[in-house]
Amino acid sequence: MSNRTITIDDRLYEYLLGVSLREPGVLARLRAETMKLPRAGMQISPEQGQFMALLVKLMGARLVLEIGTFTGYSALAMALALPADGRLVACDVSEEWTATARRYWKEAGVEARIELRLAPALQTLRDLLEAGSASSFDLIFIDADKGNYLAYYEAGLDLLRPGGLIAVDNTLWDGRVADDAVDDDDTQAIRAFNAALHDDARVDLSLVPIGDGLTLARKL
Ligand code: CA
Repeated sequence: MSNRTITIDDRLYEYLLGVSLREPGVLARLRAETMKLPRAGMQISPEQGQFMALLVKLMGARLVLEIGTFTGYSALAMALALPADGRLVACDVSEEWTATARRYWKEAGVEARIELRLAPALQTLRDLLEAGSASSFDLIFIDADKGNYLAYYEAGLDLLRPGGLIAVDNTLWDGRVADDAVDDDDTQAIRAFNAALHDDARVDLSLVPIGDGLTLARKL
């Protein structure tokens, strides 16, 4: 028995997946195709996708924003959990990666729920604010370039409704955030982001050690 978060070794991880993962076939196929890409590590884990789908349902979310879509796994996991009239705005800059995403969204029958915005996300966030979308999103998932995390978060807070949730990926950064010997720009950016949220009285906070670390911040 342990009263701190347990260390998940390979054997325990396989067990966890074996007794809890309910990955739809279309998500499994997308994951298998993405696994062949050199940047496959950018995809969230399947148990994290399932957890985020559960969050969508728990919150009764109808309007979701994703910053950093890659090949579309997290967007698809969340879109499948939305009600039929729900909507997910997906931000990315890669035509190539999101072409894969679109194929699987269509195969899953949720392409009408997902609006892809191919542009730098900060511009899209500004556009959404100018279009009157302040305080309207239920859930925002941030999983893009780490140097802009704080900027995405600040714009995200403006777009989020009170009681809404921002989920931020990679906040444990493969453990490098806690390694004093590591000092690259991305690691410094995530450290600064984590420190800022710890002191941010505008949100309730939890850093969930699922995947590579998923910070949950609920807007008061
Ligand atoms: Ca990520």
